[in-house]
Amino acid sequence: MGVAAHAGIVPAWADDGGEKYRAQARVMPPSPAFPKAIDAYAVYEPQTTCSMTNKPGPLDLRDIVFQTYGQRSWSIARSCTGSSVSEHKEGRALDISFNALNDTQRKLANDFLYWLLKPDPHGNRHAFARRFGIMYIIWNHKMWRAYRPNDGWQWYTGSNPHTDHIHISFSWRGAMRRTSWWTRQVFY
Ligand SMILES: [Zn+2]
Repeated sequence: MGVAAHAGIVPAWADDGGEKYRAQARVMPPSPAFPKAIDAYAVYEPQTTCSMTNKPGPLDLRDIVFQTYGQRSWSIARSCTGSSVSEHKEGRALDISFNALNDTQRKLANDFLYWLLKPDPHGNRHAFARRFGIMYIIWNHKMWRAYRPNDGWQWYTGSNPHTDHIHISFSWRGAMRRTSWWTRQVFY
């Protein structure tokens, strides 16, 4: 018990990338209305195969970023060489450039992540992230995991601090557009 037990844990309110809520209006994509039924949180499905095509779910989310925040560099599928486990090797992880060291870019990135993780009008937490089948997000030294939804943003200590891009891994269902962002209904 005590303070030490919480060391390194970002407060649960920090759904906007670990920064305090700001007074400025957020820049967010449109928020379409959905029925109350919502996808279960994605479980952790690590990369196990090699499939170097860009899957449609990450491509659609990339386009939403482009429409809202402007064109920027990105990548999805990646070479399967090397031993590291990466959903990029299955074309179901999106890297999209934002510069965490620039105040304007960092705010836009946090606005986008806030949009993905905000509750919907039905009270469903992390609503759009669940409807897209997002499995985890890494941004600016922090990581959000759908399979640990009550933990909020945790410090990320991997070798790449993700200060020049957001990484978003999708479940297979999300990657293949089988979650409710696309189907509108929840089938499982
Ligand atoms: Zn990545």
